[in-house]
Amino acid sequence: MDPTPKPLSKGPSPIVLRGSCLCGMIHLESKMLPESITICHCLECRKASSNPFLTFGLFHNDFIQWYMAQPHGSRKDLHGDLSKGIKLTYYSDIATRGWCPRCGTPLFMKYHCRPDGTSITMGLVDDEHIVGSMPPVKEHIFLGDKAVWWNVPLDDGTARYQGFNEPFTRRLLEWSAKGRPQRLDMPPAPSKFKL
Ligand SMILES: [Zn+2]
Ligand SMILES: [Zn+2]
Repeated sequence: MDPTPKPLSKGPSPIVLRGSCLCGMIHLESKMLPESITICHCLECRKASSNPFLTFGLFHNDFIQWYMAQPHGSRKDLHGDLSKGIKLTYYSDIATRGWCPRCGTPLFMKYHCRPDGTSITMGLVDDEHIVGSMPPVKEHIFLGDKAVWWNVPLDDGTARYQGFNEPFTRRLLEWSAKGRPQRLDMPPAPSKFKL
């Protein structure tokens, strides 16, 4: 199984992307720009966003950091302790979704078959803090669930899939064959996937 790609540069990397939720309680810093950008039309993402889709950037865990705003302008590093500052939900044993516990902004999905990566909702990103060139949107996935009233642009240069793309489908099948191991940086899914 291919690991989640890392940037090529060695040594200390500068922060090239910053973002936050709607209320400003949860902040993100990244030393890489997303490896790829995916628009997901699945029913969960439609409900999660109250919109026709959610857009995710794929980041390597080693290059991102989450912070929670504290009183008096300070901030707490949530490294390795996301369940203490971020609301987590489980709708299956495939992935965990993270949300701001105060304003409810969707923050990320962490797939158990990709333990070294995080799919971050691109609405968090503050345009004025981007350093470098963002990759173009790569693909639309789960078009089988697409809202009937939303039309995907004909000429946006993306790949289109009815469900997951082929490499991710293979990744999921390999993960399933290994007994669906849960990632170590998130609490395991409850047995009945309660909210
Ligand atoms: Zn918030
Ligand atoms: Zn989705």
